[in-house]
Amino acid sequence: MLFTVQLFDSSAQKQEQCNILPTPVVYKRVKGNLYLREKIHLNKENWPKNTLNQLDSMLQKFHKITIQDTTGKPFIRLRKLTNVPKDFYSISISSFIFISYSNERALYYAMQSLVQLIKTENKIKYIPKAFVQDYPKFDWRGLHLDVSRHFFSVEEIKRYLDLMAMYKLNTFHWHLTDDQGWRIEINAYPKLTTVGAFRDSTLIGHYTANPRKYDSQRHGGFYTQQEIKEIVSYAAERYIDVVPEIEMPGHSRAALAAYPRFSCTGKQQKVPGLWGVFEDIYCTKEESFQFLSNILNEVVSLFPGKYIHIGGDEAPKSRWKSCAKCQNVMQKNRLKDAHELQSYFISRIEQFLNKKGKNLIGWDEILEGGLSPNATVMSWRGFKGGIAAAKNGHYVVMTPGTHCYFDHYQGKSNEEPLAIGGYTPLEKVYQFNPIPDELDAAQASYILGGQANLWTEYITSYDQLEYMAYPRAIALSQALWCQNKPNYEKFCQVLYDVHYEKLDSLKVNYSKSSQRASITSKVNEKGISLILDSPDTSDIFCTSLRTKLSGEEIKLNLKAGEELMITRPKKHVTEQEIEFISKNSALGSTIHLTRHHALGAKVNYITKPNPQYHYAPSLLIDGQKGVRPWRGHEWIGFDTCKIIIEIKLPEKKKIKEIVFSFLESNGSWIYLPKQIQVSNQMKRRKKIRSTTNINSELVRLKIKKRLKTINIEINTFSSIPQGLPGAGRVPWTFLDEIVFH
Ligand SMILES: [Zn+2]
Repeated sequence: MLFTVQLFDSSAQKQEQCNILPTPVVYKRVKGNLYLREKIHLNKENWPKNTLNQLDSMLQKFHKITIQDTTGKPFIRLRKLTNVPKDFYSISISSFIFISYSNERALYYAMQSLVQLIKTENKIKYIPKAFVQDYPKFDWRGLHLDVSRHFFSVEEIKRYLDLMAMYKLNTFHWHLTDDQGWRIEINAYPKLTTVGAFRDSTLIGHYTANPRKYDSQRHGGFYTQQEIKEIVSYAAERYIDVVPEIEMPGHSRAALAAYPRFSCTGKQQKVPGLWGVFEDIYCTKEESFQFLSNILNEVVSLFPGKYIHIGGDEAPKSRWKSCAKCQNVMQKNRLKDAHELQSYFISRIEQFLNKKGKNLIGWDEILEGGLSPNATVMSWRGFKGGIAAAKNGHYVVMTPGTHCYFDHYQGKSNEEPLAIGGYTPLEKVYQFNPIPDELDAAQASYILGGQANLWTEYITSYDQLEYMAYPRAIALSQALWCQNKPNYEKFCQVLYDVHYEKLDSLKVNYSKSSQRASITSKVNEKGISLILDSPDTSDIFCTSLRTKLSGEEIKLNLKAGEELMITRPKKHVTEQEIEFISKNSALGSTIHLTRHHALGAKVNYITKPNPQYHYAPSLLIDGQKGVRPWRGHEWIGFDTCKIIIEIKLPEKKKIKEIVFSFLESNGSWIYLPKQIQVSNQMKRRKKIRSTTNINSELVRLKIKKRLKTINIEINTFSSIPQGLPGAGRVPWTFLDEIVFH
């Protein structure tokens, strides 16, 4: 034979593919299939009741299989193991099913995996013969839910837990109290729920909207202690621990609406319908500790788990600074500032919880002013807080905003439902690793695991909640369960091929944003190239180009992966609409492109953008303006008063006009600049135009000069004026794009 060609047979590949998510430690395919009848025999008395009931209901739901008791040789056989890793199980599928497990929790995980292994094709049910060996990497595999900003019913919480259990997530962090609603019945203080659980009105649209509008509709609800017990036991049947969160000393406006006497001012205020951080928090006087201890006393008796979350985040100290009682507490306890007062506050609460046999966990702000001796830290403002805590021998749960905030967008903001901001697509979640490189093995042992947080300011329905949580929660589970997770592409293949079907059959409203084709641009010699990146190779680009002057239109079709070259115009700037059509028309998309003289030019940021908004330099000259309304990404952002950018055109060109596109979003501390100056960079810099008259997002500067290297200097106000959002700070400047006519 002259040469050999190795062909990948995709159907054979799929045969070998492991359908279990999270991916097990070992999956070894063996030849042949084990065919299943409509009835499966097992020895019911060997099974814990909860696991058996769920096996029964899932087999019926997914595969129309029923289970039957037998005293003889069962089809599914069990064996308990000792001396294996924590929560270890194995499944061997030969002419029958053999499960070995270390404890009941592990047997439950084996059951979930087994259900995922069953296939149905043309009404024939079977399991590919294989050997599975598995155990989790991290102990804390959490999913959080904020029920304060929007209330979710007992049935909805149960559904949330069912899905968590399917993907072996084991910690439900239940954010039960916040400014906008108190959601847990406390017998000692009935007004917490009669008053604190309801608000008169809720913000419509985004926090940054100007002016803000409200819906004038009463919103609220709470869980009775009976319902709490019901949910805790429902979770326990799924081996999920429930960690309740009772926020203090901040995010307490709902409680203070019910009992204003525990604030510093005593002022009666309503439960707010606006999001954000509020000045009024619990006063540190003795009566407040009594109030909180009485509440926690009831909380502790409802939740059997080890941890009680006390929040501790975003507590402004202005009220404490001007309160005689708080000042008195500081003096008496020799506390030198408000941070130490917060630390004192948290320590008092920790002592109370420790006496009750519980551990305190709080957001990373509890590090400020000194951490309580036994506290566990939930690191949300990046990894930093968690690293500091682990180095000091405190336990840590990593929930960094960069990877774990499921209230962020998972696609382009103009193609997604309203969200708080930020950008955390599926792949980003998949890359999450709770153990930062800075930690050595001993320090890393303090990292209990990770968790994703689901804040619900902008999540008004359970459907939308599922959309934000799935499939990202499955990617999270991969990050927290797998010893060696497969690459992202392999994960997606199993997710799309197998698990979407399961989620469909459960009518889960998961997001398909990760499958949406996207157009990426890269700089080339003549301008920029656009590449359609799509998992579906039948997707196509369609582009229609029209020149402003002639109105001439060109139509062109390109397939995924092919490059579309957008060259700089010889003479006139043109506008272009590029649309891509997906097989699934719901996922189509359009971009608007301006073909101008600086397209693909070299950009040198003499002032570096803030790393959080440091996108590819080409973003500024890729022909596309930043997405509006701004939702936290796809713009170049600066937080300095002076910004200097140098743009080098590929050749000297007569420029009539330069148009800057800025963003104004004062609610996010983003303001228009004060002054722009454009200079011609030759041997010496020569100023050619400047303006101080900036009152709209688009700023046009008439140039009428032949230019090659252009130096742009943008100056902002030195600080945001009093009375405006972010007063006293350096304003943010956001820019995209700079068009050269
Ligand atoms: Zn006070």
